[in-house]
Amino acid sequence: MSEADHSSAYRREFLAEVEREVEGGTWVKMCMQCGVCAGSCPFGPHWEHSPQKIFMMIRAGQREAVLRSESMWLCTSCYNCVVRCPRQLPVTHIMHGLASYAQKLGLAPKLQATRDFSLQFWENCTRTGRVNEMRLTLGLYFREGLVAGFKQAWAMRTVAWGLLRAGRLNPAELVGGHRCADANGIKAMLAKAREIEARRKAQHGH
Ligand code: SF4
Ligand code: SF4
Repeated sequence: MSEADHSSAYRREFLAEVEREVEGGTWVKMCMQCGVCAGSCPFGPHWEHSPQKIFMMIRAGQREAVLRSESMWLCTSCYNCVVRCPRQLPVTHIMHGLASYAQKLGLAPKLQATRDFSLQFWENCTRTGRVNEMRLTLGLYFREGLVAGFKQAWAMRTVAWGLLRAGRLNPAELVGGHRCADANGIKAMLAKAREIEARRKAQHGH
C-alpha cells in the first residue's frame, strides 16, 4: 500500500470509529462545511474548535486532537446550530457524544471544569437520589487542592453566610443529609436505563 493509501485509510478509520461509537456519529459525513453552526454558536471565536472544525478534523483523521479537545465540553446545548444547520445535523448530540466517548477512552482533559462538574454531580446525585449541595460545592472548590479550595471558600464567604442565615445551606448535610425515600427505586431505574442503553448500542452500534 502506498503512503497516500495508508494516509487515506487512516483518515477513514477515525470517521468509521466515530460512526460506530459516537452518538449521532453517522451524521458527520453529511457536514458540508458551510460554517453556519460555527457562526451561530454563542462561543463564536472563543473556543478552540467550532463544531464545523471538529467535523472537518474527524474526516481528516485527527483522532488525538479531537478526542483530547476541550471544545466538546464547552457546548451549552443551546441548539442554535441544530435549528440552523442546512443539513439538519444533530450537532449538539454529536458534540456531547464525542465528549462522552473521549471520557470513556480516558482521553478527556482531566481538570476541564464541565467534565469535572458532570462527574461530581452524577456521582453525588445517584448515590442517594438527591443532590447533597454541601458535598458538591466543597468537591468543586477543592478539586484543585487544599489551597485553591480554601481560597475559593473564603472568596464565597459572604454568599455562604447569606445562604446559612436563609436556611438554604445546612452544614449537617456534610455528615448525612437528604436522601430519596426510595433509594432502591433510584438504583433500579438507573440499572434499567443502562440496560436500555446497552440494548440500543447492540442494535444500532451507538
Ligand atoms: S451548519 Fe451543518 S453543514 Fe454547516 S458546517 Fe455546521 S454541521 Fe456542517
Ligand atoms: S448547541 Fe453547542 S455547539 Fe451548538 S450552537 Fe449551542 S453551544 Fe454551540
